[in-house]
Amino acid sequence: MRCDFCREKAIYKKDNVGYCKEHFIEYFEKKVFSTIKKYKLIERGDRVGVAVSGGKDSTVCFLILNKLSEILEFEVVGILIDEGIRGYREHTVKFLKKISKREDLELRIYSFKEEFGYTLDEMVEISKERASWMRPCTICGVLRRWLLNKASLEVGVDKLATAHTINDEVQTFFMDLIKNNRRDLKRLGPFTGVSRIRGFVQRIKPFYFVWEKETMTYILSLGILPPLHECPYAPLGDRWKVRLSLYELERRIPGIHEKIANFIIDFTKRFKGEKIILKRCKICGFPTNRDICKGCEIRKTLGILS
Ligand code: SF4
Ligand code: ZN
Repeated sequence: MRCDFCREKAIYKKDNVGYCKEHFIEYFEKKVFSTIKKYKLIERGDRVGVAVSGGKDSTVCFLILNKLSEILEFEVVGILIDEGIRGYREHTVKFLKKISKREDLELRIYSFKEEFGYTLDEMVEISKERASWMRPCTICGVLRRWLLNKASLEVGVDKLATAHTINDEVQTFFMDLIKNNRRDLKRLGPFTGVSRIRGFVQRIKPFYFVWEKETMTYILSLGILPPLHECPYAPLGDRWKVRLSLYELERRIPGIHEKIANFIIDFTKRFKGEKIILKRCKICGFPTNRDICKGCEIRKTLGILS
């Protein structure tokens, strides 16, 4: 297969168009750039936090936003949450530290151990022994969101970019449908509707139309080999099953992800301007729609709230 633009050897094909390395990089960066522009995700002068894990998606997000920051004139800082997952997270943390040093990127690291007193591995053990069984991904997802918000406020960012790809977004859509989670369904799309709630940092998704396989192709095109470890807890979550089913669905009905991603944008449009009245968590003071936020509730259930 040849590149449709220069006849060099193609490394990627999409919608019957072949891309060589150079033209793939251009295609990928243009796609991210146009999502940022179209949905006004970043404004000149913003200080943008990037939620990084050291996996391929978030590393690419960090690198590409850093590149675009010079053109669009904004600042970038990586925020890494180390949950403490043995055999997995230490590899990605090491990798990201190396990349950040090499590229001279600002990186702030927060950890579950330092913040909550326990690693995720330890919390999973506690959950088995003391409390009713909670899935590792539930504990991890809720506490990581809580700590990311805290870190974003401390680091002083205006927006927090996550590396959610089109694959992640469509998976989340199905997860919310399955759980009848209407509140979270309304919050999907390239950005969260709330931009100026005190104590809450707006989330943006510059990779909303990017495929997982494209982040891999991009990072390899830059000559970087990312860590290939998978989180040992991933197969225990429902998301894993949804993910595998969606790969199969896309194979049988090509284009289904893009159709759903566009549907989400249309569907959530009407809710973006909605006035949200939030309370303050009675324990940590963060904005929440409940008396006690989910992060504090999980720690309470585990008996690790100090
Ligand atoms: Fe956390 Fe689950 Fe993701 Fe592992 S797969 S990092 S436990 S959310
Ligand atoms: Zn709380």
